[in-house]
Amino acid sequence: MEKREQLYEGKAKKVYATDDPELLIVSYKDDATAFNGLKKGTITGKGVINNRMSNALMARLEKTGIPTHFVKELSERDTLVKRVRIVPLEVIVRNISAGSFSKRYGVPEGIPFEEPTIEFSYKNDSLGDPLINTYHALALKLATKAEIDTIKDYAFRINDELKAIWKKRGVTLVDFKLEFGRLSDGTIVLADEISPDTCRLWDSETGKKLDKDRFRRDLGGVEEAYAEIMERLENEE
Ligand code: UDP
Repeated sequence: MEKREQLYEGKAKKVYATDDPELLIVSYKDDATAFNGLKKGTITGKGVINNRMSNALMARLEKTGIPTHFVKELSERDTLVKRVRIVPLEVIVRNISAGSFSKRYGVPEGIPFEEPTIEFSYKNDSLGDPLINTYHALALKLATKAEIDTIKDYAFRINDELKAIWKKRGVTLVDFKLEFGRLSDGTIVLADEISPDTCRLWDSETGKKLDKDRFRRDLGGVEEAYAEIMERLENEE
């Protein structure tokens, strides 16, 4: 399958058409942004890692019955995916307090929850991805009730599966962001990516951050952390 015209360039990926109207090629870049594009940089090798990691994790999720957009890895940075219309919601699942949760509610980072939480943001850069509840999502016609129920069910099942995968590798899954899409027949599938850009991953022993917070917070050792988390995933497989 070959790339045809570029359809879209996002912050971390480019998307190309293919000869099949139902399939697209995503190409992962090394560009990194944070704080709604305010902070920009490059994480050398990130695109290769995020491509491989996202594909490996989506393949695992497919096996447990979660439909995803993943079709086939084409090269280091390129993957064939099903074309979807993205549901304009960022779906965030949390197991431990961190980031905007800690800031918003004034709690320290690192407090484990009894039960995982879920929250939705309206995917809209010019509004700064505001937090919304499911009633707002319905009012804005971002998704139907049935779609929101499916998305919630998948998100918690994905959390269970990802938590177990990382636990085996000595890594704690703190939180992560998912995006879902609709196939041409309306089926909801997991889309976008699952990577250190979109998850908080802490070493279970030392608490060392092995994710994009190293870039966001200028902690140093960004490339090394991405390489380490990829190695952890592959070495157990
Ligand atoms: N996240 C993301 N994209 C976003 C916002 C958040 O991938 O636009 C991920 C982030 O990496 C983290 C989780 O979602 O794993 C929760 O992020 P949070 O709401 O705490 O926001 P942040 O502190 O990153 O601004």
